[in-house]
Amino acid sequence: MKIGILAIQGDFNAHAAMLHKLGVETVEVRTVADLRGCRGIILPGGESTTQLQFLQEEGLFDAIRNFSAQGGAVFGTCAGAILLATKVENPPQSSLGLLDITVLRNGYGRQLASDVFFEPTSLKSDPLEMVFIRGPIIESIAPDIQILASHEEKPALVQKNNLLAATFHPELTSDPTVHRHFLQMVASPATNTSSSR
Ligand code: GLN
Repeated sequence: MKIGILAIQGDFNAHAAMLHKLGVETVEVRTVADLRGCRGIILPGGESTTQLQFLQEEGLFDAIRNFSAQGGAVFGTCAGAILLATKVENPPQSSLGLLDITVLRNGYGRQLASDVFFEPTSLKSDPLEMVFIRGPIIESIAPDIQILASHEEKPALVQKNNLLAATFHPELTSDPTVHRHFLQMVASPATNTSSSR
């Protein structure tokens, strides 16, 4: 099983390191051809405006939408979650529009240093470590989207079928829980919404 990681900017290496720790092969995605043979793709943090422009220029915008429509799993963290949303505010910008959420960019404030919190999650019994770096707030969410964890009463980790979005950075911790969950989604697409407790 091979997982692609969008490798334009941001912390794509940290995602790769996490997946390697879980024994999974990764490929850096910069072109449409790189996506071939991947079962899932991770859209990492960074600056969503820059990433969006790159996706559009390289034809990856449509390629990722098609990939998802054909059942490929997509996991967006922070800027990646912004790219997945149907509606983006502060300021408004276009997006892949795959996951029916509205996000407010930099919604938790423009802190330069990262803030770390531990919050309950349905993925495991212990609280989940969440590193926020100028993350978006999920302001509204369609009723059929599953909330796997929240922060300050806002959904922070959400899933619908083959789509997973985190407003924080699970790749910057040593806890593989969220990435392991993504791999389960990739491995069993038919049961992916019921795989979490
Ligand atoms: N603030 C960034 C944006 O709006 C996201 C920050 C991040 O990915 N850590 O695109």
